[in-house]
Amino acid sequence: MSAPKITRLETAAIRAVGPSVLVRVWAGDEYGLGECYPSAPAAGIHQIVVNLEEQLLGEDPRDVERLYEKMRRWNLFTGGQAGAVLTAISGIEIALWDLAGKLQNVPVYRLLGGAFRKSIRLYADCNAGSVDAAAHHASGEGGLLSEDLQNEYVAVAQEALARGFDAIKFDVDDITGPLHRDFWNGSISPKEHDAMVARVAAAREAVGPDIEVAIDMHGRFDLPGSIRFARAVEPFDLLWLEEPVPPENLEALAEVRRNTRTPICAGENVYTRFDFKRLFELKAADCVMPDVAKCGGIAEGKRIANMAELDYIPFAPHNVSSPVGTIAAAHVCAAVSNFTLLEWHAIDMPHWADFVRYSGGEIIQGGHIELTEAPGLGLELDEEVAYAHRHSKGGIPFFGRE
Ligand code: MG
Repeated sequence: MSAPKITRLETAAIRAVGPSVLVRVWAGDEYGLGECYPSAPAAGIHQIVVNLEEQLLGEDPRDVERLYEKMRRWNLFTGGQAGAVLTAISGIEIALWDLAGKLQNVPVYRLLGGAFRKSIRLYADCNAGSVDAAAHHASGEGGLLSEDLQNEYVAVAQEALARGFDAIKFDVDDITGPLHRDFWNGSISPKEHDAMVARVAAAREAVGPDIEVAIDMHGRFDLPGSIRFARAVEPFDLLWLEEPVPPENLEALAEVRRNTRTPICAGENVYTRFDFKRLFELKAADCVMPDVAKCGGIAEGKRIANMAELDYIPFAPHNVSSPVGTIAAAHVCAAVSNFTLLEWHAIDMPHWADFVRYSGGEIIQGGHIELTEAPGLGLELDEEVAYAHRHSKGGIPFFGRE
């Protein structure tokens, strides 16, 4: 058999958790499917994928790592270190692994060296639920920190438990709410601090001591407020406190970490092994959460996990993707020893699983994804469902359809 060659790339944008660009890499009549991290400039990411096609045409799709390096280095002077360019490359890289697996008739995790586990444990992000933050703000009821809303969040957490999850995550940041004095300065007012701590206390009380609870601050707060809050929630034994300070200054994050017993998690806004190298050198986090559909893809995610392992740091990928990006991340989670939890961000999206037909049947069962022996990622896109939820803003074609 002659070596397969890449013949074309095509994209479609869908609205799953957010607007994400799906990528198909074709080699003759076989293709691999990938997903670029959901983000607002989907049309820009689509255009970057289109521009990258010329770097891949005629190449053997099984040379995934070389092709990743080719795309990354081709963009060395044009933003290939982070942001939309890396997001586009990540989606293509995932599609290449899917294609390489299909061509060799093995699942992706086997191409990565095999599985430490095939049952991938998920945590449910409970920030969305049925909560309408804007309506709460408009009603003047105290925004995300009001008692009513606290109760609503607890209800979402209990739903997650009922579905078999034993780890959950909440948001406590509400910088447009009435308790936050100034949108711009990141300072936490005393009332805001107390309400945030009360939310954490309510969450812990609702789920009991055996459920792992993480709290996300979305990088919105200043250093002293973050340290004060991290210390105040120490009695609630959190799984982690996520991104208290903004992501661009990892020294500040390390300063928070040095000043609290609450474990600190970061990395969803850190790209490639090179920026994670700095995070590890600074000892800025107790746990890392690269996003596979954003940080560089499947192999880059694995490399970052391997770097974390050198310091005995757990690997718990961030994930807000459709089933395509989620299952891609699950293959990385299978192939590294230090994986602990993978995020799932669609508890309020009943049709989330309908985007694909999964080789293992129902994608999520009892809070886990069970990986199978099916080749590639082990899934097929349901094109009609995807088309029904297409995101056409910016004129992105749906795999060539209007
Ligand atoms: Mg986060």
